[in-house]
Order: sequence, then C-alpha cells, then structure tokens
Amino acid sequence: MSDKARIRRDIASMSAYTPTTSLEVFAERLGLAVGDLIKLDANENPFGPSPRAIEALARLPNINVYPDPESGRLRELLADYTGVPAKQILCGAGADELIELILQLFIEPGDCVINTPPTFAMYGFDAPLYHGRVIDVYRRADFSLDVDAIAAAAQQHSAKLVFLCSPNNPSGGLIDAADIRRLLDLSATIVVDEAYIEFAEADGLSDWVAEYPNLIVLRTLSKWAGLAGLRVGYGIFPSALMPHLWKIKQPYNVNIAADIAAQASLRDADLLLERVRSLVAQRQRLEVAFAEFACLAPYPSQANFVLSRVQGLSAEDFRDRLARAGIIARYYNKPRLYDHIRISAGTPHQVDRLLEALRGIAAG
Ligand SMILES: *Cc1c(COP(=O)(O)O)cnc(C)c1O
Repeated sequence: MSDKARIRRDIASMSAYTPTTSLEVFAERLGLAVGDLIKLDANENPFGPSPRAIEALARLPNINVYPDPESGRLRELLADYTGVPAKQILCGAGADELIELILQLFIEPGDCVINTPPTFAMYGFDAPLYHGRVIDVYRRADFSLDVDAIAAAAQQHSAKLVFLCSPNNPSGGLIDAADIRRLLDLSATIVVDEAYIEFAEADGLSDWVAEYPNLIVLRTLSKWAGLAGLRVGYGIFPSALMPHLWKIKQPYNVNIAADIAAQASLRDADLLLERVRSLVAQRQRLEVAFAEFACLAPYPSQANFVLSRVQGLSAEDFRDRLARAGIIARYYNKPRLYDHIRISAGTPHQVDRLLEALRGIAAG
C-alpha cells in the first residue's frame, strides 16, 4: 500500500519543500572556501552569540537531565528585559514553535486566519497544517498594510487570528501604532511578530498586552542575540491565555543549551545591543549605498536587512551574480517579490565586500 493511501490527503498532495543550499555545497559549486562566503540571506547575526553565552555553553551541565519545563529562570530574565511579568511570558523552541502553538490553541477546522503577504512565510505555511483557512490580504504597493481590507476580511470571515509582522520580513517597515490599535478593536486575536524589534526605532508592543486581551507579541533571540541555531524565542500573552498554553505546550520544548545560552545572552544584553547598533549602522549604509545604484530601489527598513526592487536585470540573475562574488542574498520566487532581493546587514567588512561586488555588477 502506498503512503498516500494513509497519510493526510492535504499533505500527500503538498509540493515538497526546497531546503536552502548548505554553505558547503554552495562553496563547492562556486569553487570558493566556506570561509570566503558572506551569508546575507537569512538575517542571522554575523557577530555570533555573546561571549557569556559561548562560555555558558562550554560549561553546559547535566544534559542527561531534562530541562526546566517552565524555563523559569529564563522567563524571570525576560521579565526584566521586557518589563512584562514572567507569568505572561512563554518560551518556545524559536518563535516558530509559538506560531504553531497559537494555531493549536485557537483554530478549529475551517476557522479563518488572516495573513498579510508579502510577509514571513510561516504563518501561511503553518495555518493549514493546523486546519486553518488562510485569507491573504495583500499589502499595498509600498508594502504598507491595507487596514480597511484586513478589517473587512476579518469581519466577513469571523477571523480567529490575524498575523502581523513588525518590522515586516521581508519589506522591513514597522506597522503604525494607530493601525494596530484599529485592528485590536476587531474580535480576532492579533499576533504581532516582533522578531526584529531590537533593530527598530520603536519600543514594540510588549506594554500593550496588559491593556488588550486579544494581543499576542512574539519575540526571538535568533536575530539580535545571535542564537538562531539554538532555537529559542518567547511570546507575551494575555493572562487569560496562559493556563491553556501551559496545557498544550510540549513539556521540554526549550532544550538546556538554548535555555542556558538565552539566560547568558540576557545577562550580556548591553554588549549584544551594542552590536545591534552596529548592524543598524550597516543597514543604514546599505540603504544609502543601494539607492545610488541604478539597478536597485531600496525600501526603508527598521530591521537588520534591506529589501530592494531590482531593475534593468532580473532579481534572480542579480542574486546569481552576487553569488559568483561569494555573497548569498535572498530571492523569493513569490508574487509581488519576483523583482526583489533581500540582503541582510553584515559586519562592516562584509558590507565593504558586498558594495565592491555591486560596483562590479553595475559596471556590467
Ligand atoms: C526569523 C524570524 C522568526 C523566527 O524566529 P525563531 O525564533 O528563529 O523561530 C520569526 N518571525 C520572523 C518574522 C522572522 O524573520
């Protein structure tokens, strides 16, 4: 009997996921050493984790013992960092896990989930797996939210959840506070993913959770704290949701290494936020420099990356030419993004090399 006969039909008919090429394969294809590659395709932190996190990982205790299922110490440190009581914070194996947990908590088969593409792919990818019905409300040409259309769709479909990303990945813009307030008047729960808030000139919405019973804020240590490979993020939830989240969370979702490294990172927040300022300076450098190339039209960003429209050549071709210079950028084969490229901010040296490669491409 074929697998198809027994597994979920929607999964059997799904197309396969194309994983990103590993650095090793990429380097071999280009005839370069892995160390010569500059990875600017996934908004990772080029400075790596904090020294305290590295030290804590080197002394990792008791990996034969299960981790603290409540991530108690980490949540206390996150409470200090965010100003939100620990009892309203839940940690996950990355913010990605919390997206799934929120869908599990709210969605009954056929319930509507509003997505606002172009945006982070996981909301639209995960929702159907948890039996949600995704309604896409596309952003405007400048990638700002179409709040009227979201409100209308939410009402028409009695939406349970609205996923918003601020600053938005991949376009980089923040959502106006007034727009979010308007959406919070809807009966849907509004999930605001603030994976990049440390890079923005805004405080984020953690304080608002006390005020709105239908607001969830997601954060991660993957980007600003350089822990993407360890998988640790957190959500700030209305008090009423917490007992139910505790019921459904996998008990040992945050592993010991992630827990310990995240704690050490929060104790090293000053240094990490200094690096964030350096990355913001490099992102600003990219915005200014890109605007001077005829082939690129950058959008203003409040994150650690810049999205640009590519003109005069295809974005795919542009990505391939950067790759030949050892620079990996992100191209999306998706509506509204076919002629765009996203490039992460790197170290000053990496940005020097990127700009040199760009001058080469511009010269033909
Ligand atoms: C990177 C990213 C995440 C993933 O966070 P993890 O904590 O690594 O799972 C979530 N949301 C957005 C918008 C991201 O860009």
